[in-house]
Amino acid sequence: MDMGATLCTRSKPKCDVCPLSGGCIAYAQGNPKDYPGKKPKKTLPEKSVQLLMLRNPAGDLLLQQGPAQGIWGGLWSFPELAIDTDAQEYSEDHYGKVIELEEWNTYRHTFSHYHLDITPVLIQLAKSPRTIGEAVTHWYNPHQPDALGLAAPVKKLLEKLAQLDPRATKTVAKTTAKKIASPKSKTTLSKSK
Ligand code: SF4
Repeated sequence: MDMGATLCTRSKPKCDVCPLSGGCIAYAQGNPKDYPGKKPKKTLPEKSVQLLMLRNPAGDLLLQQGPAQGIWGGLWSFPELAIDTDAQEYSEDHYGKVIELEEWNTYRHTFSHYHLDITPVLIQLAKSPRTIGEAVTHWYNPHQPDALGLAAPVKKLLEKLAQLDPRATKTVAKTTAKKIASPKSKTTLSKSK
């Protein structure tokens, strides 16, 4: 007999007909509904990442398609960078000259098995890079969006970016502006660099 499913259920234990009641401490103490107690809340590990929102002179944003097996399996996202890596230096090495860099406030996205603290960094490139490593990439126009499968945090960031884009029209919905952090710091870089 499955005691847990039939007699000793969590909300209505049938102690009156239970063959184990004679030796049951919960029954003797008169508090059978206190068992089993609530599961302790899981403490999820925390990870941090920078998302590089690379914008070309036309205002399009660079997206990369993630590997099928990753956290956002096969979805499109911004290039990721370790939290302790210099975003400007990395971008100049991989994508070319940076003319403006804006670090946004960090916010948390929670997966079932960990918290991800995301720091978005908006990077204005002087030119569209000719080649971009091995990744499958796409220049995304937030005002004429292509039908791409987007990772949830990326979708929100793109909506926010669409509102900031000089090409923005009044029809762009003011959806997540409050949810996503406003720019934390902005650096316009010297032209000689
Ligand atoms: S007597 Fe104890 S084991 Fe039996 S139903 Fe009640 S609480 Fe469950």
